[in-house]
Amino acid sequence: MNRAPKRLPPEAAAVAADALRHLEALRDAGVLEVPPAETRVRPASAPSPRTVAPAATPSTPPTSTSTSRPAAAYSLSDKGCGSEGLLAVRQELGECTRCKLHAGRTRLVFGVGSPKAELLFVGEGPGADEDLQGEPFVGKAGQLLTRMIEAMGFRREEVHIANVVKCRPPGNRDPEPDEIEACEPFLKAQIAAIGPRVIVALGRFAVQTLLRDGTPISRQRGRWREYQGVRCMPTFHPAYLLRNPAEKGKAWDDLKLVMKEFGKTPPGR
Ligand code: SF4
Repeated sequence: MNRAPKRLPPEAAAVAADALRHLEALRDAGVLEVPPAETRVRPASAPSPRTVAPAATPSTPPTSTSTSRPAAAYSLSDKGCGSEGLLAVRQELGECTRCKLHAGRTRLVFGVGSPKAELLFVGEGPGADEDLQGEPFVGKAGQLLTRMIEAMGFRREEVHIANVVKCRPPGNRDPEPDEIEACEPFLKAQIAAIGPRVIVALGRFAVQTLLRDGTPISRQRGRWREYQGVRCMPTFHPAYLLRNPAEKGKAWDDLKLVMKEFGKTPPGR
């Protein structure tokens, strides 16, 4: 794909660059055809009432001595803490040592994005890049996720992204049951604080853990489910899509169902 001509005026070059990025995002998300402009994405419909009442703190997390960092050390400007509700969850989590994953982490990865996002993506847990940067989905898989989000007609900043566990499992192994049990209450509290309309569960582990359903993801994807009273769409993890690009079309089909929920019309229809 050719880059924007160098001699364009700055404003035109910026528009061309934006358009190029959007087309690349569509291509990476598996979109093969883009129709004329008049049939492209329509404005989103008015949001429907949220299904989860805001709640500031987890219902079950331990409140013991396991936090060592003073609560005052966190602020609304920290990643994933953009509202009083999310900040309360972050303060409760502290520099958590509630499970053995704390021992190997560089940074606890709480979440990122809009504190009032209507769309929440949930993955399994931080990888190496995320562990270093303290932000979910920032490596190659994260870059693909960002392009998928943009292909859906959203910006990364207006959705929210989190994981089932907030510390990197060693060697990127699956989190173990005791680790999930210790950490999932904080994900539930995040969801309650954000109040999303839709959750997209990314990958086998997140799908099977959130939905308590061991059915292979190939049979769960693309079918609406529910988690914590919120509509939940299971789909493939971006890392899997990087390894299996032929499956991108199926993931795009799943995301189109989510777009429909928001009144967005996918390109190519
Ligand atoms: S994975 Fe969750 S419960 Fe375990 S130490 Fe990290 S924040 Fe605490």
